[in-house]
Amino acid sequence: GVDPRLKAITAAIRVVPHFPKPGIMFNDITTLLLHPKAFKDAVEIFVERYRDMGISAVAGIEARGFIFGPSIALAIGAKFVPLRKPKKLPGEVISEAYVLEYGTDCLEMHVGAVQSGERVLVVDDLVATGGTLSAAMSLLERAGADVVECACLIGLPKFKGRCSLNGKPVHVLVEAI
Ligand code: AMP
Repeated sequence: GVDPRLKAITAAIRVVPHFPKPGIMFNDITTLLLHPKAFKDAVEIFVERYRDMGISAVAGIEARGFIFGPSIALAIGAKFVPLRKPKKLPGEVISEAYVLEYGTDCLEMHVGAVQSGERVLVVDDLVATGGTLSAAMSLLERAGADVVECACLIGLPKFKGRCSLNGKPVHVLVEAI
């Protein structure tokens, strides 16, 4: 059956129409963070899934992947690797540009953050087209990492029905309306 904790998690996510621009239904996870029980449950559901999967690194996507990723990493005994927007990381980086609905963006990772063959989980708050997760997976795979799965709290309808990206599973806790 469906995990009973998911109902409160869904209820705690605020949907803001027309933000940041007309036509976008913005899923705001900051309201989930105001409900410690629901916030904790969301992290714990991921921890239950990933604790015995031999994952040694959790890669979080800036910015909202930084809210959930480190808690998951600490609980499963993995390191946390931030995947950042350009020009934020001070060390040597590898970069991956990707196409958005309007324009392009880029993610960067420090060289040496993951080892060749390391089993990695990618975390973000939400998957829409999957472009951001794909770029994150490419970065990690270029560094020789083995991406085990991508984990998101929310899956938008435009992603619905798909449960994989670049041949790797994408695990979503709740589907957005
Ligand atoms: P995509 O690359 O199209 O899968 O978009 C996912 C990224 O954009 C994630 O980092 C999300 O935080 C953000 N994002 C895209 N659409 C929304 C939305 N409707 N509400 C909140 N965040 C979104």
